Amino acid sequence: MNLVRKHILSIDPYEAGKPIEEIKRQLGLKEVIKLASNENPLGPSPKAVQAIKKNLSKINRYPDSNGFYLKKKLAKSFALTPANIVLGNGSDELIDIIIKTFVEEDEHILTADGTFLEYKIISQVKGRIVITVPLRYFRYDLGAIKKMITKKTKVIFISNPNNPTGTYVTRLELEDFMRDLPPDVLLVMDEAYDTFIDVNDFPNSLSYIRDKNIIVLRTFSKAYGLAGLRVGFAATRPEFASYMEIARQPFNVNLLAQAAATAALDDKKFLNKSKRIISEGKAYLYDTLAGMGVAYVPSVTNFILIDTGKESVGVFKEMLKYGVIVRDMKQYGFKNFIRVTIGTKRENERFIKVLKKIL
Ligand SMILES: *Cc1c(COP(=O)(O)O)cnc(C)c1O
Repeated sequence: MNLVRKHILSIDPYEAGKPIEEIKRQLGLKEVIKLASNENPLGPSPKAVQAIKKNLSKINRYPDSNGFYLKKKLAKSFALTPANIVLGNGSDELIDIIIKTFVEEDEHILTADGTFLEYKIISQVKGRIVITVPLRYFRYDLGAIKKMITKKTKVIFISNPNNPTGTYVTRLELEDFMRDLPPDVLLVMDEAYDTFIDVNDFPNSLSYIRDKNIIVLRTFSKAYGLAGLRVGFAATRPEFASYMEIARQPFNVNLLAQAAATAALDDKKFLNKSKRIISEGKAYLYDTLAGMGVAYVPSVTNFILIDTGKESVGVFKEMLKYGVIVRDMKQYGFKNFIRVTIGTKRENERFIKVLKKIL
């Protein structure tokens, strides 16, 4: 007899990127680099670190349940009002809050195959049915997704840009998709990598939240370098936000995370440097991979999906032995691909050196 609820038994759990310390411990290695979770290779925003130090003596108190200062700063930075914003313990938690707030037990969630796994896993944990639609040339196929909308469809998750392919939905594609969506369908644009975007036809999704049933997710985990703190936010109509506020836990974003995120938003110097490192690293990796005859998917983000030409689980394990942590993409449905996060110059060079040995 099993005491566990049936839908939990059948879930393929999320496999996180391996922590550096774990690989050092398990393989007895001294120097390990992690290019597996799309984190900022430069460390955290220095302004965030300063803010954490300043607030350390206050952690006997509960955090501000309303996140007053962080919401105020976010509103100012993105031309929103605080009532548009819901804070989350990372955008992962906001995905969870969205499902809790909007999706009835018999309603469906629609997303792509080959996208961020948490949409599916969080939905399954809540016993919701998830319908997935294949990507087309590594991109979200919005036409095909639209055809799969039924009366049961409630929420559509779009990772833009898409993790793990690094491709994006354009403004025209998104506007076309939104044009005749049923009025009782909610669109979620998960923009974890928006800060890295430097293409002109990327949608300004925040401009739609007034008139459309849309929620935009952003995070401090990637460009801002605060993955370990867990803080993200959702931007949407005040009405939707108010119900998400009811569904969330009262102290979901901790005191240090709130202080750090508030400070990081102002850290233009750090953000600009991060963007520069990523674009230089990307140019180096594109060049070198092309020179090696290794195919990859061009990316607008800080990671690259690479075709290893053989089973990537093996490639991943081989690379670990040399102290380089990447992600094999088997769980995402790309059996022969790895995803590598763009690191510092030294890290990228080390990655290439090891990849050359293995391929
Ligand atoms: C990294 C990532 C997230 C998770 O962000 P957190 O704020 O750390 O929970 C969400 N969506 C996508 C597409 C991501 O790649």
